[in-house]
Amino acid sequence: MFIEKIVTTVFEPAWCKVDFSEYGQAWRDIRPDKSPLACFRCDREFEDGDTVGLVGMHRKICNQTACRDCAEAIRDQLHYEQKYPSQ
Ligand SMILES: [Zn+2]
Repeated sequence: MFIEKIVTTVFEPAWCKVDFSEYGQAWRDIRPDKSPLACFRCDREFEDGDTVGLVGMHRKICNQTACRDCAEAIRDQLHYEQKYPSQ
């Protein structure tokens, strides 16, 4: 017998550094357990030379890596929410 449950994790970004690092051999040498690396938001796999963004989360969820497009979108959304906070 098997019971299957799907768990949803809600991420709440606190900050975003768009140009945290560059993906390539140096990245793989330092972090062999995180290769291949994919964007946590869109699941696109990084290729050598891609910019790796880093997203810090609220509620003690580990930092996540994001591709440039997703990191820029997260950064822009955070800036918007800071400028126009919800009431
Ligand atoms: Zn992405």
